Amino acid sequence: MTARPAIANRRNSAAVHPFPNPSMVAIVLGAQWGDEGKGKLVDLLASEADIVCRCQGGNNAGHSVVVEGVEYDFHMLPSGFHLQNCVNIIGNGCVVNLPELVEEIEKNESRGVTNWSQRLLISDRAHLVFDFHKMSDGLIERGRGTSIGPTYSSKATRNGIRAIDLIGDFSIFTEKLRNLYNYYKLTFPDLDLDIEKTIEQFKKLAEYFRPMIIDTVAYLNQNILDGSKKILVEGANATMLDIDFGTYPYVTSSNCSVGGVCTGLGLAPKYIGDIYGVVKAYTTRVGDGVFPTELRNEIGEHLQTRGREWGVTTGRKRRCGWLDLVLLRYTTMINGFTALCLTKLDTLDELAEIKVATTYKRNGVELPSFPASVDTMHDIEVEYVTFPGWRGRSTSECRTFNSLPHNARLYVQFIEQFLGVPVKWIGVGKDRMAMIRVF
Ligand code: GDP
Repeated sequence: MTARPAIANRRNSAAVHPFPNPSMVAIVLGAQWGDEGKGKLVDLLASEADIVCRCQGGNNAGHSVVVEGVEYDFHMLPSGFHLQNCVNIIGNGCVVNLPELVEEIEKNESRGVTNWSQRLLISDRAHLVFDFHKMSDGLIERGRGTSIGPTYSSKATRNGIRAIDLIGDFSIFTEKLRNLYNYYKLTFPDLDLDIEKTIEQFKKLAEYFRPMIIDTVAYLNQNILDGSKKILVEGANATMLDIDFGTYPYVTSSNCSVGGVCTGLGLAPKYIGDIYGVVKAYTTRVGDGVFPTELRNEIGEHLQTRGREWGVTTGRKRRCGWLDLVLLRYTTMINGFTALCLTKLDTLDELAEIKVATTYKRNGVELPSFPASVDTMHDIEVEYVTFPGWRGRSTSECRTFNSLPHNARLYVQFIEQFLGVPVKWIGVGKDRMAMIRVF
């Protein structure tokens, strides 16, 4: 008797796979230190999407969208919130401040967003932010407190409270909340919060959000397998602020590179399609931390003024510098960008020459990549390639690649060639329409 080949039926069973064409998920990520102008690309893609997801961060991110003269404000809400056909997911990797989410929803509701409660889903695994998280951050870093870091700390300490706790047995939720508050009081004895009032507040919030808190991992994966949905993930913050890959400790508390998309949504890597990196045509960063191409001179000030480089809510000025291709090669390597969106090219319009960092050296020896330690970066020599500018020819009216000034095209092509990734969109102005689609 001859043995039957063990793998004979494999091909057949694959042919009758019940989900032959699962949806591939598109992702938008910041490639530098944030504020790259992700909003414009996200809006463009969200307007065609069926599902828009947030996978990490809290309401410390976000942007405004202007549609037909109406301005919508999104911080925690995904960017499809105002679109009637779009389901919005706040994934398990996010930390959610529910009282502030109500305010954000109401603000957008007053601007005309309707029918949102059937279109907003919050992961039952997402961690909740409480006022004492915010207060404790204020106590650690007075005046600069956000609640995001402390909530991720609670998650990692494993005494955090998740959305599923809120909609379960409320007495258990209350007990967990009291325990967490008492734990905080041990470290921060000055904390003063009316915990009974918080319990009452969350009792009402439980009813408000109950229908929206679901197993979004199962929901998302069902929709991927359904195969007919266009799914978009919008990253908040940016790769150089990623807690693992960013300029630690001047980073945020989550993984804002591509890995955070998988862990923050329960998404298998095989369903990831395009990964779009948003790159500002120069570099900016807010606050402290290493910045090798920083321009502490009149060119830096020019970029700051012309690029309107200050925070909308905080008013804090962003530090400005030349485009850093060593940094971008590093973030491209981590994320595997399939295409780039180059924003704010118009900010460079009036410069006589433009530099781009291509090499970092220490003691004359080239560094293989962006270094891990920010403490050892003071002695790094940065080498630049200098390009002639396109002074006198504005890019802001250009809507095709070929209509850009010759030197602007050279600049874009150099970036593409250096990184080995095509530039698919070029931002040339603040307006939504000021975007070139490169074919
Ligand atoms: P995010 O933090 O990366 O989401 O950045 P936003 O999307 O909030 O954008 C920051 C600012 O940059 C907004 O005021 C945008 O209007 C502006 N912006 C975006 N793209 C461009 C561009 O190509 N040119 C100019 N001049 N401004 C832009």
